[in-house]
Amino acid sequence: MPFDLKTAGYWTALAGRLKPDTGLFIDGEFVEAASGARFATINPANDAVLAEVARGGAADIDRAVASARRAFRTAPWARIPPRARMEVLYRFAELIEAHAEAFAVLDAQDMGKPIAEMLTIDVPGSLACFRFMAEAADKITGSTTATGEQALHYILRQPLGVVGCIVPWNYPLMMAAWKIAPALAAGNAVVLKPAEQSPLSALLLGRLFVEAGGPPGILNVVPGFGEEAGQALARHMDVDKIAFTGSGEVGGLMMEYAGQSNLKHVSTECGGKSPHVIMADAPDLETAVNTAVAGIYGNQGEVCSAGSRVLVERAILPDVLDAFAARTRETVHVGDPLDPATTLGPLVTRSHQRRVLDYIETGRTEGARLAFGGMVPPGCEGGAYVAPTLFADVDNGMRIASEEIFGPVGAVIPFDGLDEALRIANDTVYGLAAGLWTRDLTKAHRFAAGVECGMVWINGYMNGDMTQPWGGWKQTGNGRDKCFEAVVAHTQTKSVWVTLG
Ligand code: NAD
Repeated sequence: MPFDLKTAGYWTALAGRLKPDTGLFIDGEFVEAASGARFATINPANDAVLAEVARGGAADIDRAVASARRAFRTAPWARIPPRARMEVLYRFAELIEAHAEAFAVLDAQDMGKPIAEMLTIDVPGSLACFRFMAEAADKITGSTTATGEQALHYILRQPLGVVGCIVPWNYPLMMAAWKIAPALAAGNAVVLKPAEQSPLSALLLGRLFVEAGGPPGILNVVPGFGEEAGQALARHMDVDKIAFTGSGEVGGLMMEYAGQSNLKHVSTECGGKSPHVIMADAPDLETAVNTAVAGIYGNQGEVCSAGSRVLVERAILPDVLDAFAARTRETVHVGDPLDPATTLGPLVTRSHQRRVLDYIETGRTEGARLAFGGMVPPGCEGGAYVAPTLFADVDNGMRIASEEIFGPVGAVIPFDGLDEALRIANDTVYGLAAGLWTRDLTKAHRFAAGVECGMVWINGYMNGDMTQPWGGWKQTGNGRDKCFEAVVAHTQTKSVWVTLG
């Protein structure tokens, strides 16, 4: 059932009533940080302090990991019949659904995402993830191998143990769901470290897991800063895996930390600069442009898979630029995240706003042509807003085409023919996603086979469901979220060789 989008007044009143949890969630209860320290989490729509949250540090990570290890060894989570785990995860999903409005308001205020996106994308996407992963719990299988009759050889697939999940702020609830659901379904214990910009929804997840019947200690949530709580978790000697989503720079640190500590498993889901290619023979140019607009301005452009490089075949360039501007004017509504009519909220922080505005300045000095936007929208100076922005005449070598801006800034790059489109598409260190609009099957399949990335959309962009492996090639990292593979990635094999005589 779709969620009712209601009115701005309804959400503002709910935001006024909500009392978010602000402790660390360790061993099934909320506790203070060992240091007693707290940090402010800020609403980027108006710079107001939303809450003062306990600031986890190394001592708290030690406590959380010890709790997770104890629960993994002593609670029956890893050993109960998988269907019993499935039941808990289903109840967990039901409770998340029952608290959908609270989750929507918490993330909308914590990082500026429009409430309508929370209710149509993040909350339903998170529920789908928990339910899919719950169903996966009893589909994990081992195998037997061919042997002579003097032996039986079977291969068990068992949980890893303690998994540290480190997530970014751009989809606080959904990224947490993508990380913790497969880890829990496979029977692991988890320590979740949400981003310091958006810790509130993760804390509600911790509480609801225990309310759903999850054993205390199987899901711990430790908010805190990357270099404190995050680093302590990733360097911990008793953590078996770090499942990371975030920037490539920090993804690289995760691999270093693993090497410097206990060789824990590391999966990384990092940035992107995805090409969204519109050929002159697109089956429906209007839909292609509309999709490209949504593909760059959705979630303020703070999307790993944003189609931030819009490659347009030269013959249709003027038409596409006109349509892009018109569609943006018609459909992108900058405003208060709690207003269901808003489609573009503020960026996550003032410092990120400055970074995105600096990139816009860079685009100008590099010689790209500013087609529209490029400033703080008039009247929105009270929050971290940036207007939807488009650069035309962009060369793929410019910084605005090669670096991840992570804001509502598109770069239109002209090309001639599929070969050039493919060359430009692949001329990036990233490899998360790509889109292509064409009615020519040969072009479509040649592009899909030749483009160097983990996900390709033909005549669409960002469509998919839980069966789709979500992850990238190259410097986007090695992880795969969603999909059954994500559950398997939280297990390890054990070979049992039985001598029969
Ligand atoms: P970030 O790398 O700054 O932070 C991510 C997480 O790592 C946060 O929880 C942070 O506290 C933690 N962290 C930071 N420094 C750390 C350190 N030294 N040690 C341990 N932990 C540390 O990224 P961000 O700004 O929160 O998120 C934006 C990035 O995430 C973008 O690059 C985006 O593309 C990427 N992302 C990728 C995907 C994907 O599926 N590939 C999905 C969403 C976001």
